[in-house]
Amino acid sequence: MRELTAEVVVAGAGPTGLMLANELALAGVDVQVLERMHERTGLSKALNLQPRTAEVLDLRGLLGRAEDRSFATVADGHFAVIPVSYAGWDTRHPYQLGIPQAEVEAALEERLNEQGVRVRRGHELTTFTQDADGVTVTAGDLRIRAKYLVGCDGGRSTVRKALNMRFEGIEGQGHGVSADVLFKRTPPGAPTQWRSMANMVTSESPGKFIGVIPLPEQNLYRITFGDRLNRPANLRVKVTGEEVRAAVTDRFGPEAEISEIRWASRFSDDSRLAASYRVDRVLLAGDAAHIHFPAGGQGLNLGIQDAMNLGWKLAAELRNRAPATLLNTYEAERRPVAQRVLDNIAAQNALIPLTPNQLALRALFRDLTALPEVQHYLSGLVSGLDITYGTKKAHPADGTRLPDFPVGKAYASTLFHKGKFVLLTKSPTPIPHPEVQVAEVPNLPHPKTEKMLVRPDGYIANTTGETEGWLTP
Ligand SMILES: Cc1cc2nc3c(=O)[nH]c(=O)nc-3n(C[C@H](O)[C@H](O)[C@H](O)COP(=O)(O)OP(=O)(O)OC[C@H]3O[C@@H](n4cnc5c(N)ncnc54)[C@H](O)[C@@H]3O)c2cc1C
Repeated sequence: MRELTAEVVVAGAGPTGLMLANELALAGVDVQVLERMHERTGLSKALNLQPRTAEVLDLRGLLGRAEDRSFATVADGHFAVIPVSYAGWDTRHPYQLGIPQAEVEAALEERLNEQGVRVRRGHELTTFTQDADGVTVTAGDLRIRAKYLVGCDGGRSTVRKALNMRFEGIEGQGHGVSADVLFKRTPPGAPTQWRSMANMVTSESPGKFIGVIPLPEQNLYRITFGDRLNRPANLRVKVTGEEVRAAVTDRFGPEAEISEIRWASRFSDDSRLAASYRVDRVLLAGDAAHIHFPAGGQGLNLGIQDAMNLGWKLAAELRNRAPATLLNTYEAERRPVAQRVLDNIAAQNALIPLTPNQLALRALFRDLTALPEVQHYLSGLVSGLDITYGTKKAHPADGTRLPDFPVGKAYASTLFHKGKFVLLTKSPTPIPHPEVQVAEVPNLPHPKTEKMLVRPDGYIANTTGETEGWLTP
């Protein structure tokens, strides 16, 4: 057995674990990343970055790498497959970036390697124990003693199960299948570019749906289909070619000829949330903490934003800079966000109609989405742009995201590349704390404010500039 030490062990090198490891490394934390798989498969469940995730990556100078690996810019999002525009939001990224999950992971891992951290592949966390001073983790031939362990090990999380954490929610009734399908030629009526969510998904018969997204290879498509009411007795049962062919024929007719099914996987519509995100020195993030039907393209985005919320707090705790309550605000802030996603997905499922009454309800709902206010509300929900933290607000801006506004020849987002707090001020102000960067700016995005302390994750802490409550002296 090889013995190692670290400050934090991250279990799982999916998007959540890689984002978190990047955040910790940026703060100078000694982090070990364990990944059970020997190599990335190159297959992708998720295909998109939502606007808020684009902003979050931009705060760390990572968006360009994602853009370089993307294959589409999609003008809108969707709610229950009804397109919703992001246009009403004050964001520089009012679109979804079409990018395979494997490419998001590759971009994050590339940056992690540049920060001097290598993922320990082929190392599956099997057990751990914790005591007052730390955690001891076992993975293959490794035993690592660390101060904290974060389970980013996906929906079937070993870490969550070992904690005996309740995974509260409901078992769904239906299921879906995702498959990457190469056609002999473009199927009749299939889109050749992914520019909008309009007409990407259709519902031919009650309770069923099929989505078709062109991938960046000629005649290669992501086909996602499902049934709200039926699921196989065993959801791990292999997807058959016949199932995929039947769904494709339903959608495009018999003339759509498949030459290859590259990858196919089944997913459930179970919806579950960990009862708590923390047990002493062990925390959960991403799918390890929440699972749901992939409606609206939200899961990966939720995980990356969990990581962005947790990283700087955990680093502050390790450096004795965190007020006693700071680390617990991770769960207090992020669990309600996940609950909201689960709730919006339940509502989306209910809008895939089964009965004539539900068909009428969906038609009415579609009419309502023509209203700009409804578009704004729904796009805020699925994009993460509407997230605000905290309930006690001395100023309406407290807890809201800082819109990315011009600062000189650049944008405010560039001030956050180091992962520190940023004090934006209209007049010269001394540095209040070593963890705070001061930036003098002529204007602030909220009128009648003279300064703003902004957290490392881009949310406004306060408009007084006080570090108390956020950083210990
Ligand atoms: C069909 C489908 C389509 C989807 N589409 C979208 C979409 O368009 N947009 C979107 O935002 N989301 C989508 N999602 C959801 C998204 O894929 C997940 O939310 C995302 O993968 C979660 O990332 P994660 O890092 O938390 O977990 P995972 O991606 O599951 O990563 C967990 C990692 O941990 C590793 N691991 C597991 N156990 C251990 C262990 N014991 N020790 C070490 N390593 C371990 C795994 O090998 C894996 O690499 C989709 C999901 C599905 C099923």
